[in-house]
Amino acid sequence: MTGVLTTIQRFSLHDGPGIRSTVFFKGCNMRCAWCHNPETLQIKSQVMYYPMKCVGCGACTLACSRHTLSEGKMVYDRSGCTDCGNCTKVCFSGALEFCGREYSAEEVLKEVLQDKDYYIESKGGVTLSGGEVLLQSDFALELLKALKEQGISTAIESNMSTEYDRIEKLLPYLDLVMCDLKLSDDEKHKEWTLVGNERIKENIRKVSEAGIPIILRTPVIPGVNDNEEEIEAIAAFAGGLPSLLYYELLNFNPLGGSKYDALSIDNRFHHAKPLSEERIHAIEEAALKHCKNVKVG
Ligand code: SF4
Ligand code: SF4
Repeated sequence: MTGVLTTIQRFSLHDGPGIRSTVFFKGCNMRCAWCHNPETLQIKSQVMYYPMKCVGCGACTLACSRHTLSEGKMVYDRSGCTDCGNCTKVCFSGALEFCGREYSAEEVLKEVLQDKDYYIESKGGVTLSGGEVLLQSDFALELLKALKEQGISTAIESNMSTEYDRIEKLLPYLDLVMCDLKLSDDEKHKEWTLVGNERIKENIRKVSEAGIPIILRTPVIPGVNDNEEEIEAIAAFAGGLPSLLYYELLNFNPLGGSKYDALSIDNRFHHAKPLSEERIHAIEEAALKHCKNVKVG
């Protein structure tokens, strides 16, 4: 079986315990307005253009009429572009990048098994992330089964906004589930992510009742959920989960901004800044009223 991925990141330290490899699935069913991985939203492959890296060689203009040169830089006309990726093959500066392709399960395993010794020594493993892993749940199942056969610890990062059977079939092969609750109110959740949160909460509860360790997280976004009242409501939900390892507050991360430009997508949080140390710790204190184990990531 094959799955569509953006990349496999080795030696990752932020996607679960220990040293890990993170496998990024492409395609997502939510549209969080602040998403810092916009290249994972669509399942189909896409061309990304970083003008800063363009050296004006003109090779892409010979490959396709979507490209012209102006004042030493390429100008990319996306209208009519089929995302075939041919132009990226002739761009050696890295200004044009083809994001996303099909991988076989064997190919992913070959890549991640190179670091098996590191996983074991550091109590790390492999995390399936995205995008949304559960949209390609059969591929995820094949990978997780194979990883467990190799004795490797496994985790998923998921938005949990799918039918429960897509999640349930993965549970026997999972050591950890990392998931978000971004807003406590269903309508506000819909406003900022395009989907409600009722099914998400129900799925998280079911996974926790099945005994799978959970790290629940909230990205703290300026003007969206950066207030004590909101975080207390989510922390109360987290505190009620029987298998919770900890509740993590993730300060707003503006780093995905250049990817919006590279994809020609509007970035609503272009000017937003992370919360100050003082504010994030005030919010942490509020969360601690409802949940014993809170971290700031
Ligand atoms: S992806 Fe294909 S159609 Fe689009 S600009 Fe490149 S070569 Fe042209
Ligand atoms: S091939 Fe790459 S470096 Fe050359 S003009 Fe096109 S985008 Fe710029």
